[in-house]
Amino acid sequence: MSTYGERPAEPGEVCTCGRPAVKVFTGGRHGDTGYCGLPDGGQKGPCAFCDGPRHESQRCPSYQLRPTGGTR
Ligand SMILES: [Zn+2]
Ligand SMILES: [Zn+2]
Repeated sequence: MSTYGERPAEPGEVCTCGRPAVKVFTGGRHGDTGYCGLPDGGQKGPCAFCDGPRHESQRCPSYQLRPTGGTR
């Protein structure tokens, strides 16, 4: 029963490319996913989350919407 949608990102939330997210897609198969607004998939270079090579067309297994943790 997932409903796809989107909402504005909150501070601390990041895109799958490692940039700060401007919005978050919700209800996806992998859960909420940040999006920075740039469709280029991020800069070339190591993955921002696992330090490994960039992942073509799939998110990093180490991706977290809030990489700094959910402490409030
Ligand atoms: Zn991005
Ligand atoms: Zn990665």
